[in-house]
Amino acid sequence: MSKTYNIAVVPGDGIGNEIVPEGYRVLEAVAKKHDFSITSETFNWGAKYYLEKGKFLPDNGLDSLKKFDAVYFGSVGLPAVDDTLPAKDYTFKVRTNFNQYVNYRPVRTYPGVTRPLRSEKHIDFVIIRENVEGEFVQMGGQYLPDSDNGMGIDTSVFTRKGIERVAHYAFKLARKRRNKVTHITKSNTLINSLTYWDRVIKEVATEYPDVEHDQMYIDNCTANFVLKPEVFDVVLTTNLFGDILSDLGGAIMGSLGLGGSGNINPEKEFPSMFEPIHGSAPDIAGRNIANPYGQIWSAAIMLEHLGEVEAADSIMKAIDKSTQQGVLTVDLGGKAGTKEVADAVIKNL
Ligand code: NAD
Repeated sequence: MSKTYNIAVVPGDGIGNEIVPEGYRVLEAVAKKHDFSITSETFNWGAKYYLEKGKFLPDNGLDSLKKFDAVYFGSVGLPAVDDTLPAKDYTFKVRTNFNQYVNYRPVRTYPGVTRPLRSEKHIDFVIIRENVEGEFVQMGGQYLPDSDNGMGIDTSVFTRKGIERVAHYAFKLARKRRNKVTHITKSNTLINSLTYWDRVIKEVATEYPDVEHDQMYIDNCTANFVLKPEVFDVVLTTNLFGDILSDLGGAIMGSLGLGGSGNINPEKEFPSMFEPIHGSAPDIAGRNIANPYGQIWSAAIMLEHLGEVEAADSIMKAIDKSTQQGVLTVDLGGKAGTKEVADAVIKNL
């Protein structure tokens, strides 16, 4: 009997409402081809929901999501809403409550897409970003913010458990790829938190003697993403560094709109959540010009996580064929609309 996957669909705000339905169309098409079924429920949560209800998702929202096999997400945030809320009240809430401690963000060359780099060398690496602690735990406060002596503090948290589990994930992933982990740090200046990060990763590395391991400072890493991105295989980074590096990863592919990702709970105790690397892009929303390739790639990453590896591979091949044929959105120098891209991918499946 063919399998059925039950997916929670959360388009969110802005272009999420345009690219998520197109990505979902691709999912349905690939399911038909590979003999499995997708059922879904759509949740209209996010900043627009907040404007109506005063919260990003209902109080029982996480409980509602728990019963699904995965969450297919766009992005949240609108100019009319305080921008400290989308991460705190939706994205981080799901990531932390569902223990999605791995943020899987691949970077690669798309055929037929002009890249901003001089080098024509093939790029294919994965950023593994620690996703639930580090610099983004939002522990801190402001003291007398309106006075001359006002101050603001955010504390970073790096735990042995948190570092070990994401490091194991990175080394295991490297074994399935080109056997190399580069861990990103800044321990020459953050001499408490990031020396601990380095130490625990090095301890984990001893369990993988077959995997090449080196460490690189974040400043040097940003330069190398531009100058010689082909040297990377698995890039293991902290939450903040990974957030920034993955936008740079999108840019060196040719556009932020090209990046897919997964917020993964490797033990599958909770559903994982799949989303493009970019935000809700309110500056281009509602015009059918948003690039959906990253959202479609996120569907492939989701299927791979669910065990439908061949279907995931079909999507990637259909994406490559579409970009090769010149089906490119405005951000890539083309003229194709959002729907046209999804049509092309479905045709090429
Ligand atoms: P953004 O990623 O939304 O946009 C940055 C630039 O890239 C914009 O010029 C936009 O037009 C362009 N862009 C992004 N995605 C594109 C696509 N698919 N096709 C074509 N162009 C694309 O980042 P921002 O402007 O800094 O943030 C906008 C909102 O998104 C904010 O409210 C922010 O908080 C939110 N945000 C949410 C998430 C999330 O939900 N995970 C992530 C990042 C930002």
